[in-house]
Amino acid sequence: MSDKSLFSRIIVREIPADIVYEDDLCIVINDIAPQAPVHMLVIPRLPIARLADANQQHRDILGHLMWVAGEVARQAGVDDAFRLVVNNGEGAGQTVFHLHLHVLANKDNGERFSEQNL
Ligand code: 5GP
Repeated sequence: MSDKSLFSRIIVREIPADIVYEDDLCIVINDIAPQAPVHMLVIPRLPIARLADANQQHRDILGHLMWVAGEVARQAGVDDAFRLVVNNGEGAGQTVFHLHLHVLANKDNGERFSEQNL
């Protein structure tokens, strides 16, 4: 049994996923159980378990993830109205302990997005 995180296994293609973007620092996939019409996960290649585990050396990666979130929102045509969510820790609903940003939106650009379920 591998001790790699689920997302590390997706990154190395051990597990299939719907990949919408990737670069040298991160990968973006569609969530397997979407909580909104658009629901993507921005995942660093580096397996930082939780946001709270990031340190000073991770600042560039963290900034990059935010930039990529805006890019993929633009690509998906939802850059006028989307939300970014990070669940940190089990108590906040984190289930996969490999940092990821949820990008959530409706399909129509500019349509108000206010779902509260994540
Ligand atoms: P968390 O609850 O940790 O913030 O979010 C984990 C997310 O990963 C959930 O939204 C869940 O639906 C998604 N997820 C879990 N397993 C898989 C998988 O195998 N493939 C994909 N694409 N998403 C997954």
